[in-house]
Amino acid sequence: MAFDPLSIRSSFPILNQMAHGHPLVYLDNAATTQKPLCVLDAIQDYYRNTNANVHRGAHFLSDKATSQFEVARQTVARFIRAPQDSHVIWTKGTTEAINMLAYGLEHLLEKDDEILITSLEHHANLVPWQQLANRTGAVLRILPMEVDGQWKAEYEPYFTQKTRIFAATHISNAIGVSTPLKTMLNLAKQQGAITLVDGAQAVAHYSVDVEELDCDFYVFSGHKMYGPTGIGVLYGKTPALEALSPYQTGGEMVRKVSYQTTEFNDLPYRLEAGTPNIEGAIGLVAACDFIEEQDRKALLDWEQSLAAHVYKRLFHNENIKIHSPENNTTLVSLSVPNIHILDLNAYLDSQGVGVRSGSHCAQPLMTTLGIEGTLRASFACYNTMEEADRFCDVLIEAIDLLG
Ligand code: PLP
Repeated sequence: MAFDPLSIRSSFPILNQMAHGHPLVYLDNAATTQKPLCVLDAIQDYYRNTNANVHRGAHFLSDKATSQFEVARQTVARFIRAPQDSHVIWTKGTTEAINMLAYGLEHLLEKDDEILITSLEHHANLVPWQQLANRTGAVLRILPMEVDGQWKAEYEPYFTQKTRIFAATHISNAIGVSTPLKTMLNLAKQQGAITLVDGAQAVAHYSVDVEELDCDFYVFSGHKMYGPTGIGVLYGKTPALEALSPYQTGGEMVRKVSYQTTEFNDLPYRLEAGTPNIEGAIGLVAACDFIEEQDRKALLDWEQSLAAHVYKRLFHNENIKIHSPENNTTLVSLSVPNIHILDLNAYLDSQGVGVRSGSHCAQPLMTTLGIEGTLRASFACYNTMEEADRFCDVLIEAIDLLG
């Protein structure tokens, strides 16, 4: 079945507006996606008909809110193929989830233990580990790779008996490269390392199966998969979650408290201190339903065909250097030697085309690439081929004007 972005666009009224006198072209989806009406409706419906605090009250609305909140956990668990609801811990997003790990695992690290990450990581999957290494005397090691879209590096030697934690992105937000996760996770597990996958850029595009991946932890943010901001997920296997010290303490996460001691609650509540983001969880369910109602393969094929189309149109342009792969990616990341990407970005914006330019929170990767940053056009299900062409046309116009 061919995918029709126009039929889906009607669910995203925000896209029907003018920007600086031109039809808006939104190509900053890797930063955050727009939200379909069903997500907006679910949030409004929650506040109109259900709002109450969860788990605590013994009254009609509280029961209703608690039930919706726990159904949300079930839905999200199913969405990533987690075997149990209690494997899903609510967080504010990917960043908070990784910080929960970097603090929660601290008691397991000793001096000279190694934390291994890849050179593609977003700062969210780098800085917390770097700070953990600083606190414990552990060593942060970087698994380097060829950044021309190919994985040529000999990475096996990086996994040693000292590797205690291996944390890798599923897909690079900056250059759209996928990580050969299965191989890397296997190498990490052979060494007994704790494994984490940063799925922030994957969940909107791929059907994620955490059991099949067999990682200890998988984290993502709702707002990058058509859901609300301020909600995210830390998935963990039961023993992995049980090994975590709570990052925050307070109400909700306790069973018994005296002035001297606290008995913590069971999972998942043990890792969820305070009133959670109830509306966020409910909005995220609507986003999961929205994605699952689509033909996911057709949707991914469409998004990849948009990126491949842009790649083909720009690849031969001698002014442009493309840093993202030709295929199997939903974004195009490029630089133009001699013209500052922020100038290009400003011109694109003046013509109604919204993209992201800069280091994409991956400054060490940009240093490796020998550039200050890239200009990134990232696609979502509602983008059209006309928008992909408009991006190319306006970019070429900008290079002619500014070059
Ligand atoms: N990891 C990756 C790969 C990302 O792309 C992002 C956001 O761009 C993050 C982590 C951080 O996500 P958040 O800001 O939602 O916590």
